[in-house]
Amino acid sequence: MSQKFDVVVIGAGPGGYVAAIKAAQLGLTTACIEKYQDKEGKLALGGTCLNVGCIPSKALLDSSWKFYEAKNQFGVHGISVGDVKMDVAAMIGRKSQIVKGLTGGVASLFKANGVTSLQGHGKLLAGKKVELTKPDGTTEVIEADNIILASGSRPIDIPPAPVNQVTIVDSTGALEFQAVPERLCVIGAGVIGLELGSVWARLGAKVTVLEALEKFLPAADEAVAKEALKTFTKQGLDIKLGARVTGSEVKGDEVVVKYTDNAGEQNITFDRVIVAVGRRPVTTELLAADSGVDIDERGFIFVNDQCETSVPGVFAIGDVVRGLMLAHKASEEGIMVVERIKGHKTQMNYDLIPSVIYTHPEIAWVGKTEQTLKAEGVEVNVGSFPFAASGRAMAANDTGGFVKVIADAKTDRVLGVHVIGPGAAELVQQGAIGMEFGTSAEDIGMMVFSHPTLSEALHEAALAVNGGAIHIQNKKKR
Ligand code: FAD
Ligand code: AMP
Repeated sequence: MSQKFDVVVIGAGPGGYVAAIKAAQLGLTTACIEKYQDKEGKLALGGTCLNVGCIPSKALLDSSWKFYEAKNQFGVHGISVGDVKMDVAAMIGRKSQIVKGLTGGVASLFKANGVTSLQGHGKLLAGKKVELTKPDGTTEVIEADNIILASGSRPIDIPPAPVNQVTIVDSTGALEFQAVPERLCVIGAGVIGLELGSVWARLGAKVTVLEALEKFLPAADEAVAKEALKTFTKQGLDIKLGARVTGSEVKGDEVVVKYTDNAGEQNITFDRVIVAVGRRPVTTELLAADSGVDIDERGFIFVNDQCETSVPGVFAIGDVVRGLMLAHKASEEGIMVVERIKGHKTQMNYDLIPSVIYTHPEIAWVGKTEQTLKAEGVEVNVGSFPFAASGRAMAANDTGGFVKVIADAKTDRVLGVHVIGPGAAELVQQGAIGMEFGTSAEDIGMMVFSHPTLSEALHEAALAVNGGAIHIQNKKKR
C-alpha cells in the first residue's frame, strides 16, 4: 500500500522546509522530498539558501570583511596587527562547517516536528500523487491531499561563457575557490555578482564586473545606486556598465573574455570568471505530462496571489514561481499556503518584501523608490540622513551612506525606506514593520530611539521628511 500524507512538499529549501515544519505544527501529516546531496554524498536539507546561497555567501562576506578591516582600517583605532594574512582554505572550511550545522539543524527540526524526510527526486503525477525516485533508483508513489512544489532555482548559463567550474564558475563554484584569483571577472552586476565580487576583491583580487545594462542596480532607488557605484569603485571594483559579454576562450589557466561596449569589441584576460547573470526556475522532471500544472512563458510555475497552481490542492512557492527570488519570500509563501490549507484566510503582503545586498556598505530597501512613485504620479516628501552625521557610525568608523524615507505628500504615510550604510538590512526591517502597520513619517519621528544607535539615522530621516531633523540642516522648511 502506498504512503499517504495530508501534505507532501517537493524541495527542502527555505520555501519547502519551512512549509513542511509549519504543516506538521498545524497537525497535518507531512512529508518533504529532497534530493540534494553534500560532498560526502549525504542528504543535505536547506536548499540553495543553506547549501550554496545566502548562508555560505554571508560566511565568506563576513570573513573577508574582517580581513579587509584588519588590513586597512584597524590603524584608525590605533591597532597595529603586523602582516595580516588570509588562509583561504580555513575560510572555506569555516563556511562549510556553518553550512553543515544549519542543514543538520533542519534535519533535527524535521524530526522534532514529526516531518517525514524522504530522500530522492519527486515528480508530480496526475491525481495528487507524487512519484519518488530514491537514490538506489527504485520508485514509490505517494498520495497526498495537498502538494507543495518548492523546487527552487539554479544559475542561468550563457553560451558566451560556459561554466566548467574551474576557470569559469557559477555562484556555487565561486564559494569554493581555494586561492584568491589575481584577475577576476564577474559577469553581471546583480546582487549575487556584487556580493561574490566583493568577497574576492577584499582578499586582494583585481575584480572587473561586466554588466550589459547601462544602469547600475536598476531596482534600487537612484540615489542609493549612485552612492553604491561611487563606493564600490572606490573600493577597487572596476564596474563596466553597458558591457555585454559575447564570448570567452579558455587558454590553460586563463580565460579571455570578449565583450562589446560603446567603443566596440573588447577583450580582457582573467584568471577566473564568475557567471552571475541571474537564476532560472527548476522544473526539470518535476511535472508529469498529464499533471495539469501550467508553466508561464518564462518557465515559472503559474500561480495566483495565494500560490495556487492550475490544479486544486497543488501549490507552488519560492523561486520556482513569479516574484523576488529571495529566501524570506519563499518561506512566507510556504507559511501562507499551509495556513490556507488549514482553512485560515492568510494573505501575503507582496508590497513589503525587503531586498538586501550584503556588500559593505550594505544596501537595503522596502517599498517603492522615489522614481517609481513619481512615475506613478504620487506626490512625495523625502527625508534623508547621512551616516556621516551619526555619532554611532563615527564611533564605528563606518560613516558611508545614508537613510532615505519617502512619504506620501498628502497623507505622510511612509511608502519607501532605502538605506545604504552600516546595518542597512536591520534598519530597513524597522521601516518594514512600521509600514506594515501603516506608519506615517511623523509616527516614526515621534518615537524614542536609543542613543547612540545607527537606528537614530532612520529617526532623523523620518523627521527630515517634514523638515524636522535635528542633527542636519533640513532641506524642507516646516
Ligand atoms: P531552493 O532553496 O532552491 O530549494 C529548492 C530545493 O528543491 C533544492 O534543495 C533542490 O535540490 C530541491 N529539488 C528541486 N527539484 C526537486 C525534485 N524534483 N525532487 C526533490 N528535490 C528537488 N536570498 C536571500 O533572501 N538572502 C540572501 O542573502 C541570498 N543570498 C544568496 C546568495 C547566493 C550565492 C545565491 C545563489 C542565492 C541567494 N539567495 C538569497 C536566494 C535564495 O537562496 C533563494 O531565493 C532561496 O533559496 C529560494 O528558496 P526555495 O525554497 O524556493 O528554493
Ligand atoms: P540579477 O538578475 O539581479 O542576478 O543580475 C544579473 C545581471 O547580469 C543583470 O543585470 C543582467 O543585465 C546581467 N547580464 C546578463 N547577461 C549578461 C551578459 N552577457 N554580459 C553582461 N551582463 C549580463
